[in-house]
Amino acid sequence: MHSQVVIIGSGPAGLTAALYAARASLEPLVVRGLQPGGLIATTSEVENYPGFVEGIGGFELADNIEKQAARFGAQYKDALITKIDATQRPFVLTTDGDETITADALIISTGASPRKLGVPGEERLANRGVSYCATCDGFFFRGKKVVVVGGGNSALDEGLFLTRYVDELIIIHRRDSLRADLVLQDRVFSNPKIRFIWDSTVEEIVGEEKVTAVRVKNLKTGATEEVAVDGVFPYIGHIPNSSLFQGIVNLDSDGYILTDGRTRTSVPGIFAAGDVVDHVYRQAITSAAQGCQAGMEAAWYLAEQEHVAKKLAEAGNCSHLG
Ligand code: NAP
Repeated sequence: MHSQVVIIGSGPAGLTAALYAARASLEPLVVRGLQPGGLIATTSEVENYPGFVEGIGGFELADNIEKQAARFGAQYKDALITKIDATQRPFVLTTDGDETITADALIISTGASPRKLGVPGEERLANRGVSYCATCDGFFFRGKKVVVVGGGNSALDEGLFLTRYVDELIIIHRRDSLRADLVLQDRVFSNPKIRFIWDSTVEEIVGEEKVTAVRVKNLKTGATEEVAVDGVFPYIGHIPNSSLFQGIVNLDSDGYILTDGRTRTSVPGIFAAGDVVDHVYRQAITSAAQGCQAGMEAAWYLAEQEHVAKKLAEAGNCSHLG
């Protein structure tokens, strides 16, 4: 299978790149990856994406951009890319189904994944009370008591969402002040179902078959206590999904892909956009904007390649005639 532009990842960055590449008649192929729609598709409400007065569901937003790009010729494939050979042109990609896809230009928009707490019990009790997606799993905690870990926008946003279902929600934060937007802080502080455990971290998630408690350590006093809960939702930031690209394009020390401000990576013809690049803004709108840039850059790059190839062919013809 060959495509002029292959886009790896299908969050707002990848889908917007697809929209722009499709409108440039490049018929891009989007390889959707593990999380079709990206992280935004697991977000309940998006209230800060311009143009939606009452907000929009995260899944609906991603789905809309996907359909919009499809209208102009974007193609989609449910697969994971497991290998990339960027030493030859076109680039050669291998999927988890052992298929080969070749591409003249590549856009990386693989996003970032939730950071794990890294404490005992977290892995063992995943999907048995430990969840990283309130939108997906909140329903299963109807009438229960859960903790959310973190003090950023995600923790507060998803915590507020969970109060639709749970009876009691505890936010455990390692400091005594939040980094989340003030509008969210106001909502959380006035929600009677939510209380905080400040200056504390989760040291262990306890339970045999399912979560029954968390062991919490107060960082100021050193005291630990066990708090009985039914669920744990860690929202402590993200790590970029860039391991596949190590040794192919330049990354920074935290694993984010380095670009030149115009979405161009260290390899000509490979562009990157969204949360796999950006550790500052990380908004759906900034990811979409970078996707737009990457789609345009890929189109310009391919036009330039075509122009050079044409000139070379003309020069070859002339020398032959001469
Ligand atoms: P974030 O802003 O990086 O916040 C991560 C939180 O987790 C921080 O409070 C941090 O504590 C805490 N934390 C980090 N490592 C920890 C650890 N090992 N143990 C315990 N706590 C830890 O991440 P985010 O909330 O996922 O947000 C990511 C981006 O998406 C941000 O730019 C955010 O604005 C955006 N976002 C926006 C919205 C919205 O606008 N509605 C919703 C969701 C996300 P410290 O505060 O002490 O560093």
